Amino acid sequence: MAVREILVDPDPRLRQRCAPIEAFDADLAGLVEDLLDTLYAGTAIGLSAPQIGVPRRVLVMDLSSARDTPEVFINPEVLAVDRLARVEESCLSVPGVSATIVRPIRTKVRALDRHGELVEAKLEDLRAVCLLHEVDHLEGRLFTDHLPAWRRLLLRWRGRPAAPRAA
Ligand code: ZN
Repeated sequence: MAVREILVDPDPRLRQRCAPIEAFDADLAGLVEDLLDTLYAGTAIGLSAPQIGVPRRVLVMDLSSARDTPEVFINPEVLAVDRLARVEESCLSVPGVSATIVRPIRTKVRALDRHGELVEAKLEDLRAVCLLHEVDHLEGRLFTDHLPAWRRLLLRWRGRPAAPRAA
């Protein structure tokens, strides 16, 4: 399909709560393909639909080193989280910023796959962090929202340093 433009903070479309997917049709298949094409065009490990301007509850991830194992989560529900840790994150929609935040590194999630089949998965470490980062996008949240207010102000005041390494 197509590599899509990625919205960048402070685009208000990154701040919407996204609507669930109801139909597993050609539109959804196209959205998933576009998300994967856009993910694989760069080095990010995860991407959510709102980041390409589609306010729906769809996210994709691929943490494999060969970049050949896409995971698709539709209407994901976080059932449980555990083990808070300090993790370094960055985001294609917040270019040039990487920061350490506190986030759970274990989670249990229920979602639908691209065919509408129910899947439940336990995720750990970077996989859990990536999933929770992308689920935040579906709620209109960015990883920088997890930083203390003074740190967010400083980021805005300093402008954006170089070199994104994205999730
Ligand atoms: Zn992100």
